[in-house]
Amino acid sequence: MYKKITLLLFAFLGFYSANSWAWNAEKTHKDLSEKAAEYSVLSLTGGDYLKNFGFSKNIEEPLSLNGESKSVKEWIGEGGIKEDAGNIFTAYYYHHFHNPIATSWNQAGLSTYYPWINGMSSLLWAQNTTNPWNWQEARDYYYLALTSTTDTERQANFAKTFQGLGHIIHLIEDAAQPAHVRDDAHPLDDIGIIPQFENWAKDNRTTASSFMSNPIFPAVSFNSSAEAGYIPITQLWDTNQYNGSNPPSGIAIGLSEYTNANFFSEDTINASNFPYPDITQTTITERTPYPNAPYQRQYYLKNCCGEVKVISFPQLTILITTGIGLAQPFPKSLSLMTMSTKTTAPSSPAPWVTPPGF
Ligand SMILES: [Zn+2]
Repeated sequence: MYKKITLLLFAFLGFYSANSWAWNAEKTHKDLSEKAAEYSVLSLTGGDYLKNFGFSKNIEEPLSLNGESKSVKEWIGEGGIKEDAGNIFTAYYYHHFHNPIATSWNQAGLSTYYPWINGMSSLLWAQNTTNPWNWQEARDYYYLALTSTTDTERQANFAKTFQGLGHIIHLIEDAAQPAHVRDDAHPLDDIGIIPQFENWAKDNRTTASSFMSNPIFPAVSFNSSAEAGYIPITQLWDTNQYNGSNPPSGIAIGLSEYTNANFFSEDTINASNFPYPDITQTTITERTPYPNAPYQRQYYLKNCCGEVKVISFPQLTILITTGIGLAQPFPKSLSLMTMSTKTTAPSSPAPWVTPPGF
């Protein structure tokens, strides 16, 4: 009996963990996606692109779908939320991982010891025909919106266009989360004991949003994919420049390459299959993970190779593409991921800034 319960517990944790260490969908993904819309060419200040279609309220334009009215921005946010929806049997989040230094993109998805916790690379999922919200579908809705003969159809198809865009944006946002680009979904870690910065982002929305006020635009090509046969926006994930030996900085690379090379995730610190960050090229310090915490954790500050001197906690900035407004967050300053959970008394804080509430 005990064995059965243990197995069930492991199974549950296993299912649950595929989406562990993820941005919170209802809050963080929604905020990031809507913020992306605000910085995109769809917005009034970004170019007011929607006026070409006769829309006068830019991202605030209301669009009705099946009797539900939301603004353009809200439909994009809706896609950001819904991409993580579903139960453990139906959810898409198994396909929200991409390891840029895997042998090929076909092998870049989530891969665990559990046969039921695996998935395809998120950049493949973004264009896979089994994904009802793939990129081609979003483009089809866009075409249908432009050729609709009634206002009802036109609004519905535009609403689906923007929701579809939100689903794709969600996948790119996940590439800014270290665990999602370092094949790190370990079942037993996500039981709520270890404070995770995803939880911090969820609980400190105002502060997190303030980090998004300096957009960074990626300098990647959209003419073709880095691997033949795929859609060009895969460059937002992966340009196939980082190969595990040449840690990059800057923005002329895919987001998964940047995140993989410059940031640890909880279970991949000093991992042999992820050469960078190199723990010997970091400054290690201990500090309390949040005010009045009864223990300390180790933090790693990068001082070499790739992005260096990145400080503090998630200082999110926005990365925006052209086109119809793809955008996503860039964890520009997260050099460090936490590691040990020691029950020692707190010592003086580390010399870098602590975000409020953490
Ligand atoms: Zn996700």
